[in-house]
Amino acid sequence: MTVTSTSVAIIGAGPAGLVLAHLLAARGIDSVVLERHDRRYVEHRVRAGVLEHPSVELLRQLGVAERLDREGLAHRGIELAFEGRRHRLDFNELVGHSITVYGQQEIVKDLIAARLAAGDPIVFEAADVTISDIDGPSPVVRYVADGATHQLRCRVVAGCDGFHGTSREVLGSAVPDHEVFDRDYPFGWLGILAEAAPTIDELIYSNHENGFALYSMRSPKITRLYLQVPADERIEDWSDDRIWSELETRLPTGDGFTFNTGPILERGITAMRSFVFAPMRWGSLVIAGDAAHIVPPTGAKGMNLAIADVAVLADILDDVINRGRHEQLDDYTSACLRRVWRCQHFSWWMTSMLHRFDDDPFRRQLQLSELRLVTSSTAAATSLAENYVGLALGESFVRSHA
Ligand SMILES: Cc1cc2nc3c(=O)[nH]c(=O)nc-3n(C[C@H](O)[C@H](O)[C@H](O)COP(=O)(O)OP(=O)(O)OC[C@H]3O[C@@H](n4cnc5c(N)ncnc54)[C@H](O)[C@@H]3O)c2cc1C
Repeated sequence: MTVTSTSVAIIGAGPAGLVLAHLLAARGIDSVVLERHDRRYVEHRVRAGVLEHPSVELLRQLGVAERLDREGLAHRGIELAFEGRRHRLDFNELVGHSITVYGQQEIVKDLIAARLAAGDPIVFEAADVTISDIDGPSPVVRYVADGATHQLRCRVVAGCDGFHGTSREVLGSAVPDHEVFDRDYPFGWLGILAEAAPTIDELIYSNHENGFALYSMRSPKITRLYLQVPADERIEDWSDDRIWSELETRLPTGDGFTFNTGPILERGITAMRSFVFAPMRWGSLVIAGDAAHIVPPTGAKGMNLAIADVAVLADILDDVINRGRHEQLDDYTSACLRRVWRCQHFSWWMTSMLHRFDDDPFRRQLQLSELRLVTSSTAAATSLAENYVGLALGESFVRSHA
C-alpha cells in the first residue's frame, strides 16, 4: 500500500470538487481530487447549463473562464409562456445582472484542464473509496487505483461525490441524529440534446395543459429541450417522433414562436426531488453540493448551489489549514444551509408554478394567478429575477440573511 498525505482530500470531480480544488489552490492549500470515473466520462456528462452571475464571477476570479467568456451565451432574461402567450422577464432591467448558458461538462473540462496544467493531482478511476478516522485531526481516505491500494492522510475530507456518493453515508453513520428533508414529485424531466439551431436567444418556461416544457440551448447550433413526464416513465417509450410532437404541442405560442427540429444527440429522464441532509459536517468530514442536497432543476440551481457551498467551505478551510482554527468548521453547516433553503424554496416554487400536478381546477387557477402576477408586477418579477440570477456568494450572503 502506498501512503501519501495532503491537506484536503476531495472526493468527486464534479463542479463542487473541482471548484473547491481551485479555490484551495488559490489560497495556497494543497489537495488531491479522487474521481470514480475516467476523465472522458466526467467531461462528457450532459447535465446543467445555467450559470448564475456570482458563479460566473467566481470562475473568472479563478482564471478558468476564458472559454466560458468566449463561448458562453449571455442571457439577459427568460420567458414564461402560459395560456398561449409568452411574457419576457428582463433580468438586466430588473436586477442589473444576467445569467450565462454554458454546459456543465464544459465547465468541468475547463476546470480539469487548468488543474492538470498547474500540475495538481486528480486521480481518475479511483475505486473503492473509504473514509475513516473522521473524529480525529488526521482522517484517512483509502482507494484503489492502477491495481494498487492507496492510503491518503489529510486534515479534512471534502465529500463532493454527488447524490449517490459515499460521504453522506459516512456522515450519517457518525451522526445518528442527523436530519433528512425529502420530497418527491410525481413527475420527472425527459431531456434531449438536439442538433437544431435555436430560434430564440433565451429560455422559455412553458406551463401547458399537457404539462411543463422548457426550451433552452447550449450553443448556436444545439438546443436542449425538456418535457414533464410521469415519474415512472421509460425513455424507451418515447420515439423521436413522439418527443417532437409533444414539444410541438407544448411550446409554440399564438405570437408565432416555432422551433427547429434535428437529430437527437442525447436523451434521458431525470427524477425530480427536493432533498436536504443536515448537518453537512462532522469532525473532519464535510459534504458539499449534491452530496448534501438536491433541488428540482426548474430553478437552475443544482450546479450553482454546489459552487456556492464550496465558496463558503474554501474560506473556512483557509482558516482551518492556514491559521489552525479548526473550530471554524463548526460554522459550515449553518452558513451553507441558509442559502440551501433559499434555493430549495425557489426551486420548489418555480416547480409548483410551472408543472401540472393533477386535475385539480383550484390548483390550476392558483398557478395561472401566480404566473400573471410575476409577469405583470415589477415587485414579483424582481423577486424571481433576484433569485434566478443568484444571490451573492460567501460571507456577504450569510451577513445579509442572518
Ligand atoms: C442526470 C442529471 C441531470 C441534471 N440536469 C440538470 C439540469 O438540467 N439543470 C440543473 O440546474 N441541474 C441539473 N442537474 C443537477 C446538477 O447537475 C448537479 O446539481 C451538479 O452536478 C452538482 O455538482 P456536484 O459536484 O455536487 O455533484 P456531481 O456533479 O454529481 O459530481 C460528483 C462526482 O463524484 C463522483 N463520485 C461519486 N461517488 C464517488 C466515489 N465513491 N468515489 C469517487 N468519486 C465519486 C462522481 O462520479 C461525480 O463525478 C442534473 C443532475 C443529474 C444527475
